[in-house]
Amino acid sequence: MTDCLFCKIIAGDIPAEKLYEDDRVLAFKDINALAPEHFLVIPKEHISTPNDADNAELMGELSLTATRIAKERGFAESGYRLVMNCNADGGQVVFHIHLHCLGGRKMTSPIG
Ligand code: 5GP
Ligand code: ZN
Repeated sequence: MTDCLFCKIIAGDIPAEKLYEDDRVLAFKDINALAPEHFLVIPKEHISTPNDADNAELMGELSLTATRIAKERGFAESGYRLVMNCNADGGQVVFHIHLHCLGGRKMTSPIG
């Protein structure tokens, strides 16, 4: 999708600090890190919100990719949080689905 920020990152039109890439998913550091470790995992296919997702395998890949990266980066055992926001009440700002992975510190609230 031409006017989507994350599609532009996938296309290489906007730079990002990439952590992992294959033909289906891309992981890159969040530009505004809310924790010592904060990266996003996105599908290469444009899916606007979690409400539009119907591919269980792809959705599972986002989660497994985040976990694999957390292990590689050495914070899987201490722990991390996986979050996917949906629409206004969920706080979604970029309308290309993305799984946040936050780690490297103890989360200060049950969610958020
Ligand atoms: P949301 O609130 O939609 O779940 O989260 C969007 C996330 O994308 C935010 O954490 C924000 O910091 C991140 N973000 C927004 N624009 C960019 C960008 O251009 N590059 C990167 N790497 N992250 C971005
Ligand atoms: Zn997109």
